[in-house]
Amino acid sequence: MRVQDGESGVKVLVTGGAGFIGSHIVDALREAGHEPAVLDNLSTGVRDNLVDGVPFYEVDCQDEAGVKAAFDDFGPDAVCHQAAQLSVSRSVREPKYDAQCNILGLLEVLQNAQRVGCERFVFASSGGVLYGDVDSPAPEDTPANPISPYGITKMAGEEYLKFFAREHGLPGVALRYANVYGPRQNPHGEAGVVSIFCERMLQGESTKINGDGKFIRDYVYGPDVARANVLALTKDPPSRFEAYNVGTSVPTDVNELAAEVYSACKSQTDKTVPEPTHGPDRPGDLRSSLVDFSKIKGQLGWEPRVQLGEGIPTTVEWFAERVGV
Ligand code: NAD
Repeated sequence: MRVQDGESGVKVLVTGGAGFIGSHIVDALREAGHEPAVLDNLSTGVRDNLVDGVPFYEVDCQDEAGVKAAFDDFGPDAVCHQAAQLSVSRSVREPKYDAQCNILGLLEVLQNAQRVGCERFVFASSGGVLYGDVDSPAPEDTPANPISPYGITKMAGEEYLKFFAREHGLPGVALRYANVYGPRQNPHGEAGVVSIFCERMLQGESTKINGDGKFIRDYVYGPDVARANVLALTKDPPSRFEAYNVGTSVPTDVNELAAEVYSACKSQTDKTVPEPTHGPDRPGDLRSSLVDFSKIKGQLGWEPRVQLGEGIPTTVEWFAERVGV
């Protein structure tokens, strides 16, 4: 019972560990003296994010035989499930594909975690898609009201964790992230405005702010989110299933964010960085999304350490190296 006894060397299978958040979780687990392995189909994740010496299973979460073989080979004490398709617009266009990846994929991993006797299952959920528009930081008991198939899969995922906790005694934790940003975020998806701005501005390309840019978001730094995952994997929550928000509660609108990224990019390159301009509204964008992190602070001792003023320049520096400016 390595997890419950608070030992080091906990073996954690990180699904989606070749992606942005998952790869920071792998780093944080190693720093804390644990033993991660990665299961990923490399659909959006990249080999550059893999670490030498960390076992890697190139497997899709829906691949019954592949997932079983990875669990049998690695023998995890705990699972950290980050793998998902995270495009809201793709979920609207292809709800069946979204559910296959985010619900059937989750169930394959959950069933194997139960089969091999894992002591903890941590699931990447989302504050924004569950709570919708809110004027002030939303606590966890805010009624869930997902409006996209992606949001529905996150809500269903949490319900499956509850079911496995109740029915099979597999302790589960859902971490409801705010808007996560930082080094290694994929700039080619629709989410991740910071990475999109960083890459385009550093390459001297134009950037567009959707509509008037007065869209409030709660930006939390990837390595801070990784630390929340390590705590959720290794500290005992008060009950067999808990959901926690992981964010900063600090409101930032997209205009302020773009200005921060713009000034950090200008100090990284001699090239001309075009100032961002405004484009049309993106239909369906929430006006305001913020989460209250007091529950995870009180129960697991987590709080954000890196504010935007530090996190943006570090992220821009990472992208500058990547695009070679
Ligand atoms: P990411 O795309 O960088 O990481 C997802 C990883 O999962 C990738 O490495 C991808 O190859 C892998 N993957 C996808 N489908 C898979 C499958 N079927 N089988 C195996 N591997 C698969 O995205 P991220 O931002 O690191 O997101 C990680 C998790 O956090 C996701 O569950 C996402 O829904 C959740 N989340 C992210 C944010 C955010 O702001 N980035 C906010 C809320 C929730």
